[in-house]
Amino acid sequence: MHELFDKALGAYLGFAIGDALGATVEFMRPREIEVQYGVHREIIGGGWLKLARGQVTDDTTMSLALGSALLQGGQRDLQRFADGDDALLRSIGRAYVLWFKGKPVDCGNTCRRGIMRFMHEGTLAGAYNPGDAGNGALMRNLPAVLATLGRDADFIRLSIAQAHLTHHHPLSDAATLGIGELLRQLLGGASQGECQSWAAQWVSENPAFRFVPYRGRATAYVVDTVQTVLHYLTLHDDFETALVATVNQGDDADTTGALLGMLAGARCGAGALPQRWLHRLHADIVRSITDQTSGLLALSG
Ligand code: MN
Ligand code: MN
Repeated sequence: MHELFDKALGAYLGFAIGDALGATVEFMRPREIEVQYGVHREIIGGGWLKLARGQVTDDTTMSLALGSALLQGGQRDLQRFADGDDALLRSIGRAYVLWFKGKPVDCGNTCRRGIMRFMHEGTLAGAYNPGDAGNGALMRNLPAVLATLGRDADFIRLSIAQAHLTHHHPLSDAATLGIGELLRQLLGGASQGECQSWAAQWVSENPAFRFVPYRGRATAYVVDTVQTVLHYLTLHDDFETALVATVNQGDDADTTGALLGMLAGARCGAGALPQRWLHRLHADIVRSITDQTSGLLALSG
């Protein structure tokens, strides 16, 4: 249990570190980053969002919103969800609305549209939309993985259901489940070699995400995001090396950084995260993440 907690906390804190580090260079091209920073490797804030040093963005705060809804509903709502009741999804929808009304520092267009739709129509999913292949549903799924650990069917249903509140596209679904499953493997103690074999097998079943040879695209299109994350995760065993390489690819760097940080953080555990980055995160975020990690693991039983 102690080892699982360390890995789960490593994933959630690694996620926030990747968000805070990557946000400085979000939407920049790799060459622009090189000119401005050489290699970008410190959490300094700034970027197009003019962040404070150590501030996280929508990736982390929206994940915390999902986590809080899961914790609020507790075991009872999770069990009802498994039995086909939608009360839990409604409270997740309300948590996203509350998050949105709190004027987050950023909100993706597809997330905004889905949250507005839920607010005004009360529907839990939009129709299939060819424009919904962004990474916004994938990016916030970590709490759903933790809350359903050890329960395969609930993991799949909850991940897809929370995703469809804002994103309804088969590539978003495949990415959310794929990266979620890889996180489960790493929380279960998968080695770097096992991680590489898992990724190779998964892309052979989901060829849209093939990342060898790596095309060097790191946009918010979920295919580009997943390719970037898998490329650097399988290339580098070390958390810091993998994360620095990822965010210096630019573009949607806070989100690729967050997802890489999540997977690499699960691989190494919270105890092995670079201290100088951990200390830069704001104390309230670290506290929320730590509380949610215990709570969500307890929920999973
Ligand atoms: Mn963001
Ligand atoms: Mn982003």
